[in-house]
Amino acid sequence: MGLMNGVSRMRAMRIHRLGPITASALPLEEDSVPVPVPGESDLLIRVRACGVCHTEIDEIEGRTPPAQLPMTPGHQVVGTVVGQGNACTLGLMNRRIGIAWIHSACGECAWCLSGRENLCPDFIACGRDVPGGYAEFTTVPEAFAHPIPDQIGDLEATPLLCAGAVGFRALALCRLENGQNLGLTGFGASGHLVLQMAQHLYPDSDIFVFARSEKERSFARTLGAAWTGNTTDQPGLLLDAIIDTTPAWLPVLSAMATLAPGGRLVINAIRKESGDRDILATLDYDRHLWREKSLSTVANVTRRDVTECLRLASEIPLLPQVTSYPLENANQALLELKQGNIRGAKVLRVS
Ligand SMILES: [Zn+2]
Ligand SMILES: [Zn+2]
Repeated sequence: MGLMNGVSRMRAMRIHRLGPITASALPLEEDSVPVPVPGESDLLIRVRACGVCHTEIDEIEGRTPPAQLPMTPGHQVVGTVVGQGNACTLGLMNRRIGIAWIHSACGECAWCLSGRENLCPDFIACGRDVPGGYAEFTTVPEAFAHPIPDQIGDLEATPLLCAGAVGFRALALCRLENGQNLGLTGFGASGHLVLQMAQHLYPDSDIFVFARSEKERSFARTLGAAWTGNTTDQPGLLLDAIIDTTPAWLPVLSAMATLAPGGRLVINAIRKESGDRDILATLDYDRHLWREKSLSTVANVTRRDVTECLRLASEIPLLPQVTSYPLENANQALLELKQGNIRGAKVLRVS
C-alpha cells in the first residue's frame, strides 16, 4: 500500500541506550523516522494517544530490555486505522482501535491453544520487541487490534490497555468470591482501576489499600477503599487475596503475613528491583507460607483480558484519571513516573 497522503516520515521518541533514568540522563531522543509500512495482515495506525507505563522504565533500565536499539516504546496505544495490508479482512479501516502489550503470539503452541497466549514462548511485546506507540504512526496485526468503545475517550482508554487489562488478569487470578476481602499493595495506575473493577464485580467485598504516600492513600479512600495504611501497617484482620504492584520485596513479605489461611497473593510486576532483596532471608514458613497460602505472578496479558477490561470499563463506567503530556515531553513523563509522582495514569498526546 502507499503511504498516507504523501506523509513519509514521522516523529518518534526512541530509546537509544540503556541505563538508569535520572534528571541528567533522560532516556529518549526525538527522531524523524520513516512511517512504517504494514505487512499483509497488519493495520497502519495513526496514533492519537499512548499511555506511559512503569514497564518502559524497566525496558530503559535493562530489566526487560528492548529486542534491539533504537526502539520506540509504548504499549497502550489508541489510534485510528489509516491503512491495512492486502490480507486484512476484519473491516477495521477508519476505526478507533487500541494496541496492548500483546502485539502477537504464535497461535499454535500449547499455551496459545489453551487460552494462555500471554505465556507463549514467541510472545511479541509491543514497544519492546517491535516499535510501539511513542510515535505518530505504528502497525499491529489486525487480529491483535482492539476496537475502543465509543464512550471511552482516547486518553482514558490508554491505561485500560495495560494497567487495566493486567489488573483484570491479576484480579481473576485472585479467585475472589463476593464478600471476601481484597488487599492492594501499591496504588498506581493499575491499583486505582483494579479497585473500581473489584467494587463492581464483588460489591460485598471490602478493599484494603497499602501505599507509601498519603497522596495515594487519600486517593484510594476517595474511591471507596475500606481501609488504607502504609506498606507494612496491619489492617487488624487477615485478607483473602492481595495484589502486589510494587517494585520491592518488603511489601511481598508483609502481604504474605497478612493473608488469611488459604489466601492468595498475586504479584503483578514484570520485574522486581533488587534493592531490598536481602529481606527475603527473613521469610518464615509458619508466618508467611503455611496454611495453604499461595503466591503467583502475572505475566503479560491475553487478548481476552484486554477485551474484558474494555467491556467492564464501558459497563461500570470506569474512567481512569489521567495526566497528559505532549509526545515530545515523554522524558518528563517517565522521570515523574520513576520519582513516584503518580496520580492516576500518565498519557502522551500524539495527534
Ligand atoms: Zn504497561
Ligand atoms: Zn504460542
